[in-house]
Amino acid sequence: MKLNEIFLSIQGESLSSGFPTIFVRFTGCNLRCSYCDTTYAYNEGKEMTPEDVFKEVCKYYCKRVCLTGGEPLLQNRLLQLIELMEDYIVTIETNGSININNLQLKNKKHSFVLDIKAPSSKCSDQMLMENFKFLEDKDEIKFVIGDRADYEWSKQIISSFHKKGTITFSPVFRKLDYAKMVRWILEDKLNVRFQLQLHKIIWDPHKTGV
Ligand code: SF4
Repeated sequence: MKLNEIFLSIQGESLSSGFPTIFVRFTGCNLRCSYCDTTYAYNEGKEMTPEDVFKEVCKYYCKRVCLTGGEPLLQNRLLQLIELMEDYIVTIETNGSININNLQLKNKKHSFVLDIKAPSSKCSDQMLMENFKFLEDKDEIKFVIGDRADYEWSKQIISSFHKKGTITFSPVFRKLDYAKMVRWILEDKLNVRFQLQLHKIIWDPHKTGV
């Protein structure tokens, strides 16, 4: 497996938002989203074994880990790494284009955060909607919304495919008027979670390793 960075920070997104979390960022992604903020993880990194990665994770005090990227599901031996972290709350952030059923999570503390890329990402045509079938209540689905068209598209996807898992609507940082998007959600009586990316509010939005 190829690693870009491992660091401790505050989780800025998802249901774990606000909790100290160890981020394990893998190198490589099969998508090229228009708003990607981790382009540095496309190629840079070093080869490590799952055991080496786990040793790094164990250096930190906290028991929450976020596997991210890049795209974690492109890594070989990912399941071995996840199985080493049996005592940890682990979230696997995946970009929606790869079959999540290939990674069988047996531990109830381990869950997916499935990103669904809306049209303004320029990658929506690569989303694998079959993934909705494999989600459980503990999992999350995140829609990154760049404009009203993305919002309408996301509503449509939810009504067509959603069965289980918490839905989050996350505006593209500083692109959409946040208050306006909250009004849309309330007017449409959507049972979705609105989120801002905490780490971009706390730190310089271009800073890496936070
Ligand atoms: S899936 Fe994530 S890492 Fe890959 S291009 Fe999109 S935003 Fe960037």
